[in-house]
Amino acid sequence: MNDCIFCRIIRHEIPAEILFEDDHVISILDINPIHYGHSLVIPKRHCKDFLELPPECYGSVLTAAHRVTRALVNGLRLDGYNLFTNNGRIAGQSVFHFHLHVTPRYANDNIRFVLELKKYAAGELERTAELLRAELQKD
Ligand code: 5GP
Ligand code: ZN
Repeated sequence: MNDCIFCRIIRHEIPAEILFEDDHVISILDINPIHYGHSLVIPKRHCKDFLELPPECYGSVLTAAHRVTRALVNGLRLDGYNLFTNNGRIAGQSVFHFHLHVTPRYANDNIRFVLELKKYAAGELERTAELLRAELQKD
């Protein structure tokens, strides 16, 4: 038994607004939403982040995310939505059990993800792609 907060929700030990659950996935309303209806899609198998997610869970997580997103779009009349996952403390992860966020977006909702986009120096785009292609060859 671990004391991970999402595992405890999965075991129904602590309350949550459950939107959907099956043998592999649970989806709940986020308790501190970016906007009302902000939902989380969580594999029932405990894994700390995306790289630890077992490949056999990919399908059930994405299928559940698709269903929950469609329910949000239709039920709350969204104009758009963001799907994202934070991995690692530096990336904003606060619960170390992998999950996808599905967040409602509306015209003029004033939600901003503040990003300062970079420019590659000459040759760096190609060098970065080369490094990553070489890494992928190791699979
Ligand atoms: P992260 O910061 O790891 O990307 O996302 C964790 C999310 O889980 C946060 O948005 C946070 O509001 C939500 N959360 C944390 N504890 C609970 C809880 O006990 N119940 C619910 N429903 N959401 C939680
Ligand atoms: Zn867990």
